[in-house]
Amino acid sequence: MLLEFEQISRSFGGVKALSGVTFGVGEGTIHGLIGPNGSGKTTLMNVVSGLCPPDGGRLLLGGRPIHRLGPHRIAGLGVARTFQNIRLFAGMTCMENVIAAQHLRGGRALLPRLLRLRGAKISETRSVAEALTCLTKAGIAARKSAIAGALSYGERRRLEIARAMALEPRLLLLDEPIAGMRLREIEEMEGLFRSLARSGITILLIEHNMPFVMRLCHRITVLHFGQTVITGAPEEVAEHQGVIDAYLGPKRTEG
Ligand code: ADP
Ligand code: MG
Repeated sequence: MLLEFEQISRSFGGVKALSGVTFGVGEGTIHGLIGPNGSGKTTLMNVVSGLCPPDGGRLLLGGRPIHRLGPHRIAGLGVARTFQNIRLFAGMTCMENVIAAQHLRGGRALLPRLLRLRGAKISETRSVAEALTCLTKAGIAARKSAIAGALSYGERRRLEIARAMALEPRLLLLDEPIAGMRLREIEEMEGLFRSLARSGITILLIEHNMPFVMRLCHRITVLHFGQTVITGAPEEVAEHQGVIDAYLGPKRTEG
């Protein structure tokens, strides 16, 4: 398992957003996280990315505990994310947005900039080349010089993914990445996520579009009131009565 949640809990005041969440995410898999609004999905992603430390339990990345590390340390370990509410630099071009994200990665891209070494120029060229690779992977290279604020909704979602790719992640966290997209865009994103997974990136994805989740994910975890209902293959999850109750509501009457 690349990522292991062990009895993860987190409260906000009196609200138990997560309680005893336990499951694993296999390396190279696409793992879906579903559940009704308020079931704790985003909080769980915030726990992984270090924005919201758990108040109980352990979180392991590649066997190493990460639940006490801050967001930058966790990003440095190869965990990248996108947000339910898109966060971009609206006044910058797509290329600039990705280059800005490279700074977070630290290491070779960051150092020359800070020290203004002789090699900086070469490194800048490489940054641009790497940023273009990220834009290409996310399918938004054609808009590299466009201002982020002028992009369509689907394009902004792609740019967020390009930015995440700049971290060279081994784990990519996607919070509702196709929300508000049209069918054709959704199909394109599906292809994109599959190709990212084939390239070895593990994906943990929150999404409400059930057909999409069922087609795309190798495994799915269902949250309800901050607890794990089931983790299993899409077929298992679809047949689970607890999921039908939790996700679709206990009573469904024809009408
Ligand atoms: P989901 O993403 O599944 O819709 P969330 O993780 O956003 O659910 O929220 C789970 C619960 O935790 C909700 O009751 C929500 O109101 C609460 N919650 C989440 N973040 C905070 C916060 N920063 N402060 C207070 N309550 C929060
Ligand atoms: Mg959410």
